[in-house]
Amino acid sequence: MATPIAPDTVASLRRRLLDFFDARARDLPWRRTDDPYAILVSEVMLQQTRVDTVIPYFERWLERFPDVEALAAADQADVLKAWEGLGYYRRARNLHGAAVVVRDRFGGRVPATASDLRELPGVGAYTAGAVASIAFGEAAPAVDGNVRRVLSRLFDLPAPSPRELAELAAELVDPGRPGDFNQALMELGATVCTAADPTCGGCPVAESCFALERGAVAERPTPRPRAQVPRQVHVVAVVCAGPASDEPRLLMRQRPPDGLLGGLWEFPTAVVESDEGDRVTAARALAVDLGARLADTDADAPLAVLAVLPDVRHAFTHLHVTYRPVLLEAGGGSVPAHEWANAEKLAALALPTAMRRIASDVWERLGATSRGEVRGVVASAHRKDVPE
Ligand code: SF4
Repeated sequence: MATPIAPDTVASLRRRLLDFFDARARDLPWRRTDDPYAILVSEVMLQQTRVDTVIPYFERWLERFPDVEALAAADQADVLKAWEGLGYYRRARNLHGAAVVVRDRFGGRVPATASDLRELPGVGAYTAGAVASIAFGEAAPAVDGNVRRVLSRLFDLPAPSPRELAELAAELVDPGRPGDFNQALMELGATVCTAADPTCGGCPVAESCFALERGAVAERPTPRPRAQVPRQVHVVAVVCAGPASDEPRLLMRQRPPDGLLGGLWEFPTAVVESDEGDRVTAARALAVDLGARLADTDADAPLAVLAVLPDVRHAFTHLHVTYRPVLLEAGGGSVPAHEWANAEKLAALALPTAMRRIASDVWERLGATSRGEVRGVVASAHRKDVPE
């Protein structure tokens, strides 16, 4: 149990942080609503993702799924499509599952306490505390990465445990305005007490900051031991185009519902050695394994290579993948567990960022049936890169 903070220090910190929030909080779309569903959506989107990236997704999401009922009734394919490019797709699947739980177990109303919110898929201590305090006024703590950094510096704690931080935040949270207080701490961490460049000269709580007083700001909090070095993987992505005489169509498959990029669509892939010379052979072998061979050509002839496309690199949390795409001409016949997608269908499928980039390259090579379709594919391929 952490040492209690002096009551006058608590009162002073609350007052100065709330004044700071009133005067300097950024105007963000989720701060203009008291709808618990919208606040829950914003908190899930903001997990591990920057505010600027989230804003357009949040606004489109509420147009597409304006309430719990709409989201609970949606197909997962539509949910993933609305999330496409935002990364960490497990969040989308969990949010969809949470809407179903809210509809079926909570009568369609987002639960009002942190403890009940924890019953929802994907809702941990931080998200439950944030939603309970912001949407329902519960004096619950909410410790995210920004709050961890601010509290570590304010109280000069080298390596506080999650429990210590939760106790500290629970002691500090203002019972009269808990949502604003929690957001004030987050806002301070995001805009003033930043990781690399804290502006202590303009900080509203500088006179109470132990790390500043002791000259330890740069060392607080102590960096966490670096997670294992991400594994480097090379993957051949075989892009099979249908016969040249047809409207361009590409062979796609859907990933299993759970796990990395679950439920999203991709070009068939296989892990290969990093050796550049291996790529075409591997792509042809993969296509033949799939049964995507040209139906109307010599069965012994190798599949025609239309293009070796530029590599696409993508960083997942524990994995750095280099996709080595090869464009082959195939027959266009039925391939088990795969589908052929024309430009219109491809634009409607939810694709991971790397696959969207490959699709963009492919489509430019093939020549799309309409310039508008090309522009749509290219635009979504060049969205800000985020981890998935
Ligand atoms: Fe952070 Fe500096 Fe403010 Fe302390 S004084 S809370 S280190 S910005």
